[in-house]
Amino acid sequence: MKELIKNITELYGPSGREHEVREFIKKEIEDYVDEIKIDKLGNLIAIKKGHSGKTILFDAHMDEIGVVVTHIIDGGFLKIEQVGGQFPLNLVGARLNFKGRIGVVGIEGETDKELRENYKNVSLDNIYVDIGVSSKEEAEKYAPIGTFGVFADGFVDYGEYCLSKALDDRIGCASLIETIKQMKDNKHTVIFAFTVQEEVGLVGAFVSAYDYNVDRAIAIDVTDSLDTPKALKRMSMKLGYGPCIKIKDLASVSDREVVDWIKDTAVNNNIKYQLEVLTLGGTNAAGYQRTKSGIPSCTISIPTRYIHSPHEMICYSDVVDTVELILALSEADF
Ligand SMILES: [Zn+2]
Repeated sequence: MKELIKNITELYGPSGREHEVREFIKKEIEDYVDEIKIDKLGNLIAIKKGHSGKTILFDAHMDEIGVVVTHIIDGGFLKIEQVGGQFPLNLVGARLNFKGRIGVVGIEGETDKELRENYKNVSLDNIYVDIGVSSKEEAEKYAPIGTFGVFADGFVDYGEYCLSKALDDRIGCASLIETIKQMKDNKHTVIFAFTVQEEVGLVGAFVSAYDYNVDRAIAIDVTDSLDTPKALKRMSMKLGYGPCIKIKDLASVSDREVVDWIKDTAVNNNIKYQLEVLTLGGTNAAGYQRTKSGIPSCTISIPTRYIHSPHEMICYSDVVDTVELILALSEADF
């Protein structure tokens, strides 16, 4: 699965510009599923039919956080706005990929005092992107206003630990692709929703279940890992201890019965798991809860360090365990 993770994380796919990722996933899975379609918003929906009469949906979002060019100033430097939740501090010094043209983020400051102050208060107002051109006209050729950019850093494999941009949420996509390939005769009908625009407000998830009668929806996404020096002390998730079953985050409270079902399934199949209460953030589970007449929902999260930075880190064994858990859920009675 490492090759798959490398290939899918390195693709360009900010919110609303997920086409490369969608094409890649479609090619990977089309020979393994009974039905496949792309809806009007760009969600890729694949179905593997079961025989229990029940339907479960697993979701992973295809988009990654990014930036968009808002203005080109003299000298051909770009000013940008965020697409999804960007911490401006993570942008300083980072490489950004504007559809193939790589830029580097610099910080403004005309005096020593101003520069120091800007470093203390980095914002989208006091940074710029340098794409290696000398004029506005030249910059317009490569990255006109409205061009989306993403982090440019590639995949690093340390064995158990892996580092990449966009593990949020390509690691969820990779887990579902691997699940589809390993799945034999599933008991429940399983819908795999590879959704668009999660990072700008769970957009894809609000519509992807609309044409189906889904009994339970589970988002596969990343969550914070608090096992680094002086990390937030109130939470317990860490790398290498298995997938996290979400109890709650800022956007949703997981359905109690679905949580118990996932927990029991993990126990019955000897899959290690963690319980997660995230004091920030949210996932597509919040979208599924609020769609149609309501779908009981939960999130299975893969613990990840440095979320929304150019270098996110996961533990490979957590991904393997997540795939096992998804496969087991496709067979587990409820
Ligand atoms: Zn995210």
